[in-house]
Amino acid sequence: MTKNNDYKAHIEQLKRHSFDIGTYRPPSEGGSFSLLLRFTQNCPWNKCTFCGMYKRDKFVYRSVEEIKTDIDSVKAISDAITAVSWKLGHGGQADSDVGVAILRADPSFHTNQCFISVFNWLASGAGTAFVQDANSLIMRPPEFVEVLKYLRETLPTLTRVTTYARSKTLAQRRPEELKEICDAGLTRIHVGLETGDDELLQIVRKGVTGEEQIEGGKKAIEAGFQLSEYWMPDLGGRERWRQHAENTARVLTAINPHYIRSRPFVPWKGTPICEDYERGDLHLSSPHERLEELRLMIQNLDVTSKVCFDHAMNSWQHNRGGLLFRQDYEGYKFPDEKPVLLDRIQEGLDVDESTHTHVKDIMGVRSL
Ligand code: SF4
Repeated sequence: MTKNNDYKAHIEQLKRHSFDIGTYRPPSEGGSFSLLLRFTQNCPWNKCTFCGMYKRDKFVYRSVEEIKTDIDSVKAISDAITAVSWKLGHGGQADSDVGVAILRADPSFHTNQCFISVFNWLASGAGTAFVQDANSLIMRPPEFVEVLKYLRETLPTLTRVTTYARSKTLAQRRPEELKEICDAGLTRIHVGLETGDDELLQIVRKGVTGEEQIEGGKKAIEAGFQLSEYWMPDLGGRERWRQHAENTARVLTAINPHYIRSRPFVPWKGTPICEDYERGDLHLSSPHERLEELRLMIQNLDVTSKVCFDHAMNSWQHNRGGLLFRQDYEGYKFPDEKPVLLDRIQEGLDVDESTHTHVKDIMGVRSL
């Protein structure tokens, strides 16, 4: 029978290593237990009026050495978990018995985010990583390329490496720089488009125009990346719903990204846009009005993208009481499933509006 003493050295190795993990990542990366690695900290823009994610925190540009040290720590933690597994006769697999053995040997691992993150990543196949924080493309391209290559060499099981980026930064990068970053191992980029409407982009201080979003998105696709674009139903409220829907559809059609993901707007307490709402300058749409906006956007959308509702705020109900839209990460494949989606929207409009969750019912859950 294996005793704790047999793998004590590996437990000590686990304790010695840590790396920087940020708070935010897309739901699809959480669902695939992607390894979270922070190449930069927080948001270099940090001005969008609806966003509270990094408001209290300054942007930090991390050095290549720091990032490589973090990657080495992930490798050391991963090796230690694998070694415990071999000692237990589990063939190097990170399974529940291995996890229990490590937690019994040292209960402090229950709250050790680095251990938990690497363990879950190994248990799910060690295939995907998400590079944090809000705009990794802000890194100087040669440095980004260097750390991506190092990541791929050090953790060769990775098949997908993704990150957040701003459209503006993508538009500013030269095509050959983006190609080098793609070739170095970054495979997918998640972009917060929010809206394609220029007036609304200016109001929410997104720092980009619709044309720049098109340019950035097209450049990313041409460089070889998979592209996820997030838009925000009801960002313009009742005041601007029509222009928001029409121009978002126009810009997304011009980009034709691989994924279009819906993140319905919730005013976070403490953000400037929440103050607009509280002053009465912005009126939130009702659930049916949001569906009307969604219908107009979808009707105008001419893409081959996958249109996804993989976020809890897409909480509309259908007439049998379940969620109106599938919330999986692959969504509805356009153009084939566009009629299916339009039928679902009609179904959501046919049920009594009180069946749906109103955004006001969940406001205040998050505050700064
Ligand atoms: S760029 Fe993204 S993370 Fe930064 S403030 Fe805007 S929405 Fe927030």
